[in-house]
Amino acid sequence: MGVCINKEWCKGCGLCVAFCPLELISISTELNSKGYHPAVVDDESACHGCQNCALVCPDLAITIEQ
Ligand code: SF4
Ligand code: SF4
Repeated sequence: MGVCINKEWCKGCGLCVAFCPLELISISTELNSKGYHPAVVDDESACHGCQNCALVCPDLAITIEQ
């Protein structure tokens, strides 16, 4: 399962962090080019592809590759 977070589209709102049932996503300490801390997937291999993160992202920054 592949979780792809477009860090340049992410505004670091934290919704995907809150809605991942497996707590696989966190907010990076790095900044993107717009000055936001983007979300990152900590353990992509554990993802079961529920798509919660992609569905809640208001900026459409997440895609799941089955
Ligand atoms: S698809 Fe589901 S399990 Fe995978 S990172 Fe997103 S919310 Fe978590
Ligand atoms: S929900 Fe979208 S905008 Fe918000 S932190 Fe996650 S990837 Fe970034």
